[in-house]
Amino acid sequence: MQTIRAGVIGTGFMGKAHSLAYGAVAAIFADVPRPLLVTLCDVDPANLDARARAFGFEKFTTDWREAVADPSIDAVSITTWNRTHRDIAIAALSAGKHVWCEKPMGLTLQDAEDMADAARRSGRVALLGYNYIRNPVLGLARRLVAEGAIGTVFDFRGQIDEDYMADPDAPWTWRMRRDEAGLGVLGDLMCHLVSAALLLVGPVAQVCAQLHTVHRTRRLPAPPHGAAEVDTDDHAHALVRFAGGATGSMVASRIAHGRKNLLRLELHGSKGMIVFDQERLNELELYVADGAADTRGFRRILSAPEHPPYGAFCPAPGHQLGFNDLKVIEAAHFLRCIAGREQPFVGFEDGLLIERTIHGMAASAAAGSWAAIA
Ligand code: NAD
Repeated sequence: MQTIRAGVIGTGFMGKAHSLAYGAVAAIFADVPRPLLVTLCDVDPANLDARARAFGFEKFTTDWREAVADPSIDAVSITTWNRTHRDIAIAALSAGKHVWCEKPMGLTLQDAEDMADAARRSGRVALLGYNYIRNPVLGLARRLVAEGAIGTVFDFRGQIDEDYMADPDAPWTWRMRRDEAGLGVLGDLMCHLVSAALLLVGPVAQVCAQLHTVHRTRRLPAPPHGAAEVDTDDHAHALVRFAGGATGSMVASRIAHGRKNLLRLELHGSKGMIVFDQERLNELELYVADGAADTRGFRRILSAPEHPPYGAFCPAPGHQLGFNDLKVIEAAHFLRCIAGREQPFVGFEDGLLIERTIHGMAASAAAGSWAAIA
């Protein structure tokens, strides 16, 4: 079995998720090339050696250029802040590495175009971290749509909400500045919703959006303290028209009190409906408009070995997968793409469609009119 020597850049929330996924993936999926954890990198040296040991890496560095230039490394995970994605991805692809990069692609649409161009020229695998679409029940939803179980899908209703910035006293972070984050909730959360729409309905052709920043200043966490301005969006609403003819609406908020990881979608079809609520990660609701009217209703389907790749984790239905398992499924896909057995989705090319959609929403909101997604 082929081995892939991996480097992970960033050791925060996503750096840990990628590292854990590399550590688990070959035990869960027997068919994937085995990843070897070579270099862990973070610009912050505090406890970096301990983190590298804990995650099982051979070595560590504070300089991402060193990891990217290392000829022994085949694949690089980019899990750093948004403003670094472009330069690290382009350098890694140019050095012949396969890349698994967290969303969003970069700060601007031009960053995303540059990254997709570098991926095209390199011929390497370039995958984005849209882990939520790895959920086996969304795989089931996709299959049901393709099989016509709910007829023609004419309406997509999507909502993605969290409350990690709902407290007006929450401190200022890099996510609140356009020059560090790019977009606000559009790049944080809306892009995930667009990835689900891309999987289930296809690309978006036109948008009409409005954006709002409710908390315009935030407390600086470090001296000299005081308040810093926020120039990114807190919540966003968009009407959308899909290239295939369906219509829809998408809303996103990072200041929605009580919402911890809500990604809710409804697919309205001519013969039924599919509903998914990510705070109930292992469930899909299906309504099919047939049979006796007096017993019609939504069916609640629990994830099970019949919904691949759930069975690779657990032989018993309804025992439930979690967030980090979705990252393991994504790691398996990345490794199979490197082995030439699958095509990356969401690859950098598909990622461009998502970036065009969220940047199109920003442009539409600024202009106060519909925007075409080129
Ligand atoms: P984080 O702050 O927890 O971790 C980022 C880490 O990167 C930090 O340890 C920081 O020191 C390090 N870093 C920053 N610049 C660096 C550089 N130049 N070189 C080396 N290390 C550097 O952030 P996070 O929540 O893990 O977010 C990171 C990325 O992941 C963001 O782009 C975010 O949008 C994305 N994200 C994706 C998901 C998902 O579900 N796919 C969830 C959360 C975050």
